[in-house]
Order: sequence, then structure tokens, then C-alpha cells
Amino acid sequence: MKGFSIISLFFFFSILAPAQDELLQLYYGQEPHDVRVIPWSRPLSIHLNDFLRGLTITPVPEVENLITLEINRRELVIDTKRKVARYSLKEVSFPIRRKDGALYVRVGNLVEIFSYLLGRDIVYEATSKTLYVPRTKDLVVRTRTRRIEDHFRIILDYSHAVEKPLSRRSGKKLIVTLKTPNIILDRSGFEANEAVAGINLFQGLPNGTTEIVFDLTDRVGKSTVERYNPNNPRTVLKLDGAFSTEEDGSEEELEGAGVRRIVIDPGHGGRDRGAVGPTGLQEKEVTLDLAMKLKDRLKDDFDVTLTRRDDSSLSLKARTGIANHHKADLFISIHVNAIPSQNATGSETYYLAQGGGSKNMDTAHYGDADGGGPNPSEAPGGLDDDLSLMLWDMAQSKHTEDSFRVARYIQESLNHLSGIKSRGVKQLPLKVLRGARMPAVLIEVAFISNKFEEKKLKTVKFREQVATSVAAAIRRYHEDVKLREKPADLLGDPR
Ligand SMILES: [Zn+2]
Repeated sequence: MKGFSIISLFFFFSILAPAQDELLQLYYGQEPHDVRVIPWSRPLSIHLNDFLRGLTITPVPEVENLITLEINRRELVIDTKRKVARYSLKEVSFPIRRKDGALYVRVGNLVEIFSYLLGRDIVYEATSKTLYVPRTKDLVVRTRTRRIEDHFRIILDYSHAVEKPLSRRSGKKLIVTLKTPNIILDRSGFEANEAVAGINLFQGLPNGTTEIVFDLTDRVGKSTVERYNPNNPRTVLKLDGAFSTEEDGSEEELEGAGVRRIVIDPGHGGRDRGAVGPTGLQEKEVTLDLAMKLKDRLKDDFDVTLTRRDDSSLSLKARTGIANHHKADLFISIHVNAIPSQNATGSETYYLAQGGGSKNMDTAHYGDADGGGPNPSEAPGGLDDDLSLMLWDMAQSKHTEDSFRVARYIQESLNHLSGIKSRGVKQLPLKVLRGARMPAVLIEVAFISNKFEEKKLKTVKFREQVATSVAAAIRRYHEDVKLREKPADLLGDPR
């Protein structure tokens, strides 16, 4: 068969091809652009100027170890000596290598920085060494396969809301039709399994549609589709059938499992209403709804537990206790902010500061009283009072770096939410979540004390956007952990 011979020829050729011919394909539009790479580098390092040209950005010379680029009316400064990049008031590490007088940078770092500067999600597919840079309106569809107990799921996450996709079954094929002539299909999360044998993409069909076609195996019986919700743009296909009972652990052996269990903590509850907005919206109600919406977006991929599922009160100790009991890999506490000034707006994400010796922070608001605190209403400041009752302890300190990473991802994700001014990631000796034995963060989604933000917090749309943003950030962190957990020999960098 033709397909077979082309594939085998491809593998044959890639084995014989000299290593320096190894290239990465960058798609910005329909035509691929070749980007040189450092052969066999893991993580892959790619030619900086090739990458820029692929994005139609003109490379500039290095002046005194600095490369200054303007991207999307924002400045990116690369310091080749210190190996850092500065943009939008941030400084991030920028691993650079020199080879034959050219600069090579790790693809993951470029993806992160340029996704931010270009305001769109660049997709990197490691297996095919391909970078997809969506044009503004391009729809990126990420496919993932999952086994959940006795059934399998195929999940398609859309980069933005689409006209309701149509799904139909035709024998052993399951077809999802999108009313757009072209998409970018990210298959990095797709794995053939007992239920799905393959995936095919048919673009530019006569009626201006695209079809994603899944080949099902003989084992699949019934297939069902979850209702499409434009505020959480995804299609979930559920496949029932006669599947083996044992879990296939081979994937997890090759690749780290990443984050598995997540505990989400809706702040306050019961008699403790938390903060109350100008028109009476209560924090405890908002946090519970946000937590449930977040769980909904994560439950297909992770084992998610809420510390409370109704309007019950729960001590602070019990909240982290639940997380420790479940051996959670991540603890997320959800709150909304309030301060007496009506003007404060925006989201903030907190994680532990080590030592807790810093005195220049606003201890009037967050305090560093120990965990035995009394009635929340007696806390100084009377703000998000629970914070003043909680104490990070040593159990947290070894997770500082991961907690920071999660906090940063969540904050970056929330920054993308229009209209919410970022107040940033805060490393405070904020003594939150005493004794959590895992990476833990606390999100203050918005200021309920501000009447505009209170209004927004009342809407289903905003709550769903927040949940979607936070879920995306958690997935990003999960991917990081998975990479890190790969066996060392796969990450090795033979030079
Ligand atoms: Zn709170």
C-alpha cells in the first residue's frame, strides 16, 4: 500500500540521514519553514534566527551581549551572557547554546515567550518536530485520549469557541465536523489504545468544513457525546465497550505520570461567609461554584477532590488534612479578595515564601499569626481573614519551587482574561494552608469589594472563563512535571 511504503521510507531515511540534516518545521500559515536544530539535543535546541525568520521577524545583530527585538509592539531583550530574556517586566531564564557562530535556544523556552508576546498558543509537537504558530483566527484543536475506569474518552479542546461541532458515528468511524475550512490539530495528547486505533484529518472539504475522523476498534460498542458548551469549548466523546480490566501502565513507565491527584479548596463555607460584595454577593458561594467548574474541567484527566461540595463549614486544618490524606499532588485554594478601598481590582496568586522573615509586606492584611487563631472577625484588617489564621510550615518549604511555578502559570493564564488587571504572583510569608505536603497555591480571583468585579463575579461566563484559565495553567504544570519525571537517559544531552 502506498501509505505504508511512504511511512517505511520515511523511517528508513530518517535513520540513514546524517544528523546535521535534522530540521524542525515551523508552520506560520500553510507553508512550512525549516529551522535548524542541534541534532539530538534533548530538550531540543533550535536556531534562533531561523525561528525568527519563520515568524517573519527580522533578526538583529547582537550588541554587547544583548539582542533587542520588538515583537507585537513589545520589547524582548535577550541577554546572551547571563542567558536570560526580559519582556513585559519579567526576566526569565533563556538557555542559549552557540554552535558555528549561531545561537540556539531550547524550543520550550521560545514557545513560552513567543506564545506570550504573540498572544496565541504556539503548539510544539515533539514527535514530528513541528511548531505550529496559529494565525490570529486559526482554530487549534488539541486531542487527547484517556481511560477512565471502564470506558475511554477522546477529548478535543478548542482554542476558542466554535460553532457547535457535529459528531456522528459511521460504523467504526467517529467523525467530528467543524464549520471551518482549516484547523491546527495538536495530536500530542493522542495515543492509540484499545478503543481508538487512529486519527485522520480532512481539511478544506467542499462545504468549507473540516472533519476529524477517529478509527474505532472492534471492542467499542456505544459512543456518546457530551453536550457542547461554548464557554468551555471542547468536545468529549465517551466510548463504551468490552475493554480489558487491567490498566495499561506502560505509558507511565516511559513518561512521568505528572500530576495525578488534585484537591481544590473552595474558601470559607457555612457560617463563614468570607468577604461580601457591595450588593451582597458572598465569597463562599463564588468559591464553591468556581471550584466545581474547575473540577469539571479537570476531572477527565485527573483525580479531583473538593474539600467541600456544599455550604458546610470546614476548619483550615481539615482542608489541608483532606489534601494530605488523598496524597494530592497539588492543592489549590480558591478565594476572592476584598479590601476596604473600592478601587482595588485584579487577580493575585499566592504561594509560600520561605523563612517568613520579610517584614515589608502588608502584615496588617495577611498577618503571620499562627494557626491557632481565634474568630476570623478578630483578625487584623478584617480582610480575607482566613489568611491570617493559616500558617505555612516546613512541610511546604520543599515544594516552594513547584508552588511558584503553578502560581506563575495560573497568574499568566488569568492575565489573559480580558478586563482583569493582574496584580501578579506574590511570594509572601503569607501563612496559608498550614501543613500542606504538596505544592500549594491560593488564588484570589478578583476583588469582590469592587462593584464592577462583583458584577462580573456574578456571571456564569466569567466564572467559566476563570475555571478554564486555571485548568489550562494546571495542565501546563502537569506537562512540566511529566517531562521532569522522564527517565534520565531520555533527557540526556549527548554532545
Ligand atoms: Zn477568602
